[in-house]
Amino acid sequence: MRILLTGLEDERFIRPLQLITNLFYEESELSITTLEHPDLIIHFIYSYESSVITSYAKLSEVETGAILEGTFQKDISNFDTEKELFKQIKNAVSLVYVKVLQDLTGVIQPWGLLTGVRPTKLLHKKIHAGISREDAHKQLKEDYLITEEKIELMQHIVDRQLTMVPDLYKLQNEVSIYIGIPFCPTKCAYCTFPAYAINGRQGSVNSFLGGLHYEMREMGRWLKENNIPITTVYYGGGTPTSISAEEMDMLYEEMYQSFPNVQNIREITVEAGRPDTITPEKLEVLKKWNIDRISINPQSYIQETLKAIGRHHTVEETIEKFHLARNMGMNNINMDLIIGLPGEGVEEFNYTLSETEKLMPESLTVHTLSFKRASEMTRNKDKYKVADRDEITEMMNNASAWTKDHGYVPYYLYRMKNILGNLENVGYALPGQESIYNIMIMEEQQTIIGLGCGAASKFIDPRTGKITQFANPKDPKSYNDSFMEYTEKKIKILDELFAVPSSRS
Ligand code: SF4
Repeated sequence: MRILLTGLEDERFIRPLQLITNLFYEESELSITTLEHPDLIIHFIYSYESSVITSYAKLSEVETGAILEGTFQKDISNFDTEKELFKQIKNAVSLVYVKVLQDLTGVIQPWGLLTGVRPTKLLHKKIHAGISREDAHKQLKEDYLITEEKIELMQHIVDRQLTMVPDLYKLQNEVSIYIGIPFCPTKCAYCTFPAYAINGRQGSVNSFLGGLHYEMREMGRWLKENNIPITTVYYGGGTPTSISAEEMDMLYEEMYQSFPNVQNIREITVEAGRPDTITPEKLEVLKKWNIDRISINPQSYIQETLKAIGRHHTVEETIEKFHLARNMGMNNINMDLIIGLPGEGVEEFNYTLSETEKLMPESLTVHTLSFKRASEMTRNKDKYKVADRDEITEMMNNASAWTKDHGYVPYYLYRMKNILGNLENVGYALPGQESIYNIMIMEEQQTIIGLGCGAASKFIDPRTGKITQFANPKDPKSYNDSFMEYTEKKIKILDELFAVPSSRS
């Protein structure tokens, strides 16, 4: 689809309008200057006068001569900076753009003009600012065109989060820790995480763990010196149970020795995503160190699907390892499912839900397949046949109805670019079993320090809420070469954020 946008001189309009275009068309070319043979010409008019923003869009479809119009007005007397005013204008222009494209295509965008990853943050912000629930909902509907159904979902989630973490808005002086272990038994086709095949890499595993122990010690020392409590710890990757039981044992021992007051940490999670990595010895280690929560991820209960996506384990193994973990005392188990895996439609997904019913994990994360740029699946897109938008939506609705019927509540959600059907990933849990770490990472209320390979740190200024990102190297070799330098850099950022005099040696 070739789209010429007129009446917009400012380059800053291009990105948000391109993101919106992507919601409607798989491939598109957009220009605000010139474009030969456009399919659509959309003319915009916008103004800011007497505290009111007005925007207008007129769409002409070249082939049919069809004309569609959209208008919007908003009073915005209270804005602090020019940047904030432009943001409001950008939203107003985006809104009329969504309106005319919805009218043209008949496709209603459930999230309206929101293209960001964390829609619930918007509702938290309004509630935290003292806006009533009713007004907040009205604003989400009018200013962003979010559907009632999604607003209700957001509200449910926000309520659950505040029940689970009543002090969510006051945790900025604590931190959470993410520990990335970049190894897996084999690499799944849709994966873009740092996940290196563990077989035959023992040398590299050893050096990696050496670096990780160092990072944990140094960071633990800084946290102790500065009296910063840890809210949650999350071991992800990769698959953190790919390493041996002895290596896991030493790692958790390091955590207890180095981190401050581990007994007060609200939740420690270890992803054991691939059932083929789970053994009785490793479960013993998890119990020994009081790991609260693990993940065992079926993704699907259809064997052919697992084979097609490169997960070299059987459906039986998932079920067997789940029971093993349960029998050995793990009482908070999460399971991940993916909607829209290659070759799967409503029937296959319903089968997966019926198998889930037999296990009833404490939480269930329902992802919608996304074509991430770097994955095998995206590189060979033709090889993988996936369901269409309507079928994806039906599966999503089935997941929502199924979880409700089985006593689960939604407690976090996030969206991704190129997600099938432009929907979302939703975490469900039995009430009281929600993962606190997932809430912390989604709502960005406190700093999360990333240690290990590919671990992203997100530093949140406790005073201003300003976010700074910082990523450790993704591959073990670069990590091994530079972990000291990266640790030092992170500590420097933390010193500045938590206002420690710069006399550290
Ligand atoms: S198990 Fe997870 S981290 Fe490992 S390759 Fe598969 S998707 Fe990636």
